[in-house]
Amino acid sequence: MTTVSRMNSAAIRDLTPDQLPEVVMPTCEARPILRGQTAIVTGASSGIGRSIAAALCAAGANVVVNFIGPEAEAQAVVHEATHCGCDHRGRAICHRADVSDEGQVDEMFARAIDEFGTVDILINNAGLQQDAALEEMTLSQWRRVIDVNLTGQFLCARAAVREFKRRGVKPSVSCAAGKIVCVSSVHEVIPWAGHVNYAASKGGVMLMMKSIAQEVAPWRIRVNSICPGAIRTPINRAAWATPEAYADLLKLIPYKRIGEPDDIARLAVWLASDEADYITGASLFVDGGMTLYPGFEAGG
Ligand code: NAD
Repeated sequence: MTTVSRMNSAAIRDLTPDQLPEVVMPTCEARPILRGQTAIVTGASSGIGRSIAAALCAAGANVVVNFIGPEAEAQAVVHEATHCGCDHRGRAICHRADVSDEGQVDEMFARAIDEFGTVDILINNAGLQQDAALEEMTLSQWRRVIDVNLTGQFLCARAAVREFKRRGVKPSVSCAAGKIVCVSSVHEVIPWAGHVNYAASKGGVMLMMKSIAQEVAPWRIRVNSICPGAIRTPINRAAWATPEAYADLLKLIPYKRIGEPDDIARLAVWLASDEADYITGASLFVDGGMTLYPGFEAGG
């Protein structure tokens, strides 16, 4: 497999969008730091979730690839996550569920427990945008984004905490009873005109995550967020698919390259591992400096 992740920092920043590699996959050299653990990754049939599912599997975890679209895409993720010839990879299954539906979320957790015995890690990744100027935004656009991006994360976190508390800490597996990683956004702090539903959902994720983290810490459950900047996935294709759009995008990124899903996946694996054991309630920004007020780079 081409180890495009190795060229990430050095070379990718100089490539134009059409030269960027299609998928950045974790390599077989990944350490099995999640061996014996089970993870659910929501919205894992594309983009960031797909990369996280593969990286967790490469780190030895069994993975439930949650999806809502075509099953073939999710099956392809299961295949690429589990077929690289390396012997410490975990197993993977895919499971269709709409994260905004309470019954479907509970069924997904029941299936994961049935298949793998328990759930140790939740990656709350599923999300969408339905953009419109405020005056044009319909109530259904507002509700759908809040339902998936915020309520979906709540429903999955609740189901995960119930299972983590039921099982408790198993020291031979992990020093925590469970780990939740919420995929938020730089827009949990950066206002975003024309996207008020999305920005409100991610701002909500920030305080939901921190409040849950405070509540469940005594049970040795860790809850954190990853806040991506611009990552090259289907959700924001318009922002990087043409040279003009890409040049405009780079004005917002001091590090002068778009992010890759693998940039997020590496942090997700580490946050879920015992190497991050004393970290809880944190929003970690992976954004090439997008939150550094790049407009102040010159002057101000
Ligand atoms: P993506 O569109 O490739 O992935 C989103 C996934 O969520 C898709 O697979 C989609 O099918 C799934 N999904 C949507 N509604 C769902 C539902 N109701 N139930 C289950 N799954 C559902 O885009 P992505 O960029 O990989 O987005 C992943 C997460 O990262 C999202 O939460 C997004 O807000 C966040 N994010 C992305 C960027 C970026 O630049 N790409 C930046 C900041 C945050």
